[in-house]
Amino acid sequence: MEMLLAGNEALARGFYEYGGEFASAYPGTPSTEIMQVMGKFFKDDLYSEWAPNEKVALETAVGASYGGARSIAVMKHVGLNVAADPLMTLSYTGVGAGLIIVSADDPGMHSSQNEQDNRFYGKFASIPVLEPSDSQEAKDFVKDAFEISEKFDTPVLLRLTTRISHSKGVVRIGKRNTVDHPGFERNIEKYVMVPAYAAKRHSIIIDRLSKLKEFAEESSLNKILWNGKNVGVVTGSIAYQHTRDALPEASVLKLGMGYPLPINKIKKFASEVDRLFVVEELEPFYEEQIRAAGIEVEGKKYFTNFLELNVTKVRKGFADAGVLEPDSSSADKKEEPLLPRPPVLCPGCPHRGLMVALRKLKVFTTGDIGCYTLGALPPLSQIDTCLCMGASIGHAMGIEKAGKTSKKAVALLGDSTFLHSGMTSLASAVYNNSSITVIIADNRITAMTGGQDNPATSKTLMGGDTKAINLSDLCGSLGVENVKTVDPYDIDETYNTLKEEIDRDAVSVVITNRPCMLFPRKIKDEPFRIDTDKCIACGVCFSVGCPAISGSGATNDKGKPIPAIDPAMCTGCGICAKVCPSEAIVEDKS
Ligand code: SF4
Ligand code: SF4
Repeated sequence: MEMLLAGNEALARGFYEYGGEFASAYPGTPSTEIMQVMGKFFKDDLYSEWAPNEKVALETAVGASYGGARSIAVMKHVGLNVAADPLMTLSYTGVGAGLIIVSADDPGMHSSQNEQDNRFYGKFASIPVLEPSDSQEAKDFVKDAFEISEKFDTPVLLRLTTRISHSKGVVRIGKRNTVDHPGFERNIEKYVMVPAYAAKRHSIIIDRLSKLKEFAEESSLNKILWNGKNVGVVTGSIAYQHTRDALPEASVLKLGMGYPLPINKIKKFASEVDRLFVVEELEPFYEEQIRAAGIEVEGKKYFTNFLELNVTKVRKGFADAGVLEPDSSSADKKEEPLLPRPPVLCPGCPHRGLMVALRKLKVFTTGDIGCYTLGALPPLSQIDTCLCMGASIGHAMGIEKAGKTSKKAVALLGDSTFLHSGMTSLASAVYNNSSITVIIADNRITAMTGGQDNPATSKTLMGGDTKAINLSDLCGSLGVENVKTVDPYDIDETYNTLKEEIDRDAVSVVITNRPCMLFPRKIKDEPFRIDTDKCIACGVCFSVGCPAISGSGATNDKGKPIPAIDPAMCTGCGICAKVCPSEAIVEDKS
């Protein structure tokens, strides 16, 4: 049987078919759907869960692997930075049953704070990296990854990129096959990494890497597709598809195993072609290793390491290298810029009222990773920093301790982000006698990645009920004496509470209590409308940045635009009505 599946869906299917038993992840685009498929379709056969962060996801998957279950930890590329600590020592301990770490990289930063090439983590940790180039391989490579993991006693990094994760392809579907593994067996020299044992294990890892290099030379994961001998291309992942489209006449060495490289195979391939190129997305990862092995190769000189590759860029690279004729049809053609469509908070988003209250307070707002980061943009313009998950509290503390500005800093992060990595920073703020105010925008869901549950939502990934963490109690137990809860739709209450807490000479936490408008079910109330008789065209309502409010096309006698509210988009949150100075925004009772 065949099915049309996205790479993420195919990978989840592979995990099911090849006997996966335990899966853990923190949601993050472009990897999120892998777990949603597991939690929804395979929950009768395998256990899957959301973890509060990627480090916990990996550590738990490691425990399951030691305990005899084929396991997987799934994350986006920046998540592997969080999980890097256990990863590096996991390479030493090796595994029990097969263990896969999925890193879904985001070239082009479609929904990420940076563009990083996680193949380097494979080299850094001395573990193999597999790189599927389509949905079928996303499924098949799960089998290879488990086999390599168990044969060489190593975790395997299965690296996807956005285009592989989200593009659909036809996939052959098979039955589930489970593999028997013993449960946990005590072996302290393998599993307890005190220095004496770690030193021994490091030499085992060096030996393992040389065996993996031999394996890479013979493995069918790395295959040569012969064609003309003028040009040979070493490539992998989505760059393989772009190369086939751009230069079908070239011979290709397709790397399914991106680390370690089959250097002898590449040497032989190079000796049989006139010119050798590397086409790879992001960094010159293959190129540097190939050149270091003394093989003459051309690569990043022609193919950018900035943003995603595509067929046009690869074709242009080959044209610049003199392999293809320049494409005269596109030479003078400038790419039509897309109409700008700035990202905005949804109509009715509870973060909007909070931003409006913050605007009146004239503070620095150190932000975090979540929908509220969009508050950095006009017209709200309230977020001043955004670095990584959980950094907002540390930023606010740092600004306070630096003591170079009289303006106060408040930290803003969401419920899921607080549980991911904000808790430890809050403990630090209390411990270090800070006097910052932390706002937890509790929208009761992990909204930015599409509405996943977390330890504060009372639901598990597989749909079961569970105990919800009470954020207010949690902050109290971390030593915060002043914890308040406010309704962000009530701008005055939010403003007054924030003002009081910001003036306080101690750490305080303000929690907002309105759920996300979209999850778990879209919330919609009666829409509002503009009473044009009362509207003075002051423009204040535009400044809340709600996509439901736009110009009506009409102007007043001074030529100023009269707004209109789209009743289909308006959720009836009433934030605009609260900022209108002439009470011209009223409920539409018609
Ligand atoms: S998804 Fe939810 S939290 Fe995010 S912008 Fe939309 S309403 Fe706000
Ligand atoms: S805030 Fe009120 S008065 Fe001002 S433009 Fe909007 S609707 Fe008109």
